[in-house]
Amino acid sequence: MIRVLLSGQRMDWEEYGELLPAALTDAGIEAEVIRERAPRSPETIDYIVYAPWSDMKDFSPFTGAKAVLNLWAGVEDVVTNETLTAPLARMVDPGLTAGMVEWCVAHALRHHLGIDRDVCRRDAAWDPCVPPIARERPLTILGLGVLGCAVGGALSDLGFPVTGWSRSGKDVSGMTCLSGEDGLVEALRMAELLILLLPLTPATEELMNAERLTFLPKGAILINPGRGPLIDDDALLAALDSGHIAHATLDVFREEPLPRDHPFWAHPGITVTPHIASATRPDTAVGVLVENIRRGEAGEPLLHLVDRFRGY
Ligand code: NAP
Repeated sequence: MIRVLLSGQRMDWEEYGELLPAALTDAGIEAEVIRERAPRSPETIDYIVYAPWSDMKDFSPFTGAKAVLNLWAGVEDVVTNETLTAPLARMVDPGLTAGMVEWCVAHALRHHLGIDRDVCRRDAAWDPCVPPIARERPLTILGLGVLGCAVGGALSDLGFPVTGWSRSGKDVSGMTCLSGEDGLVEALRMAELLILLLPLTPATEELMNAERLTFLPKGAILINPGRGPLIDDDALLAALDSGHIAHATLDVFREEPLPRDHPFWAHPGITVTPHIASATRPDTAVGVLVENIRRGEAGEPLLHLVDRFRGY
């Protein structure tokens, strides 16, 4: 019998507490699923399901842990924890990916079609303005991981010319793939719409600084469902105020919740969404957790392992 800990406080542990034991049983794995803030005999816990916003910060009592299974795609809150020595897997959940595709496509189309112009029309003005079609709007995605590829694929299927940029060179059907500093400049120069789907690491923090924002074409749209610190906030405000960037739709922030007095709330060129671009869906995520536990027990390599050195 293995022991699986649902770590710390979490509002929807109720749902995982029901789904996970049933899924483990279905997979033929005998397990005790524990939901205690301070479980007895922590050294006998085999797997820790980790909720990033939980209050669990010290992994050192869990000396027998075979893996920590993160419930989020982003791992920046846990990857630098020095008490964590067990392998760390991040979440790749089909439900989370589907949600991110829908959110990015919706916000890209909002700006591409100028939907606000008609939705907000109150002046009885009949001024037809036919929007362009997708093939006329080059779009760039920074980050070609699970989410960047899924979002890029959906937008490419709609007809957008999609350029993607990543650390290592990639070959993704339907996209122009670039890497390296020169590749980044090229990707930004053609980005009428820019979507950030990079993880937050020391190498990506403030990647979109004042200089790189100037590489974007005048009137570009920036959409950030990645992480807040990917952007230099002051540089973004300056680029919006100068008109170089037409609009920014931001889902993630340096500080969350975004403080009530933060200038982003009132800025007419910024749309704030409260970190809802997507979320892990328990009904699909339990399958991912169970598969990794099965692999761990069978001595097979775990899926979605985080490279501690790279930080994602
Ligand atoms: P992933 O599969 O790990 O992909 C990360 C991508 O970023 C990879 O293509 C990687 O390049 C690239 N990358 C990393 N560091 C880089 C660097 N220094 N320079 C250039 N490219 C770099 O991650 P994912 O599952 O797609 O998720 C991406 C991020 O989305 C998460 O880390 C999280 O921050 C965010 N997210 C947000 C929400 C939300 O609701 N707002 C929800 C889920 C996730 P390689 O391919 O070469 O490794």
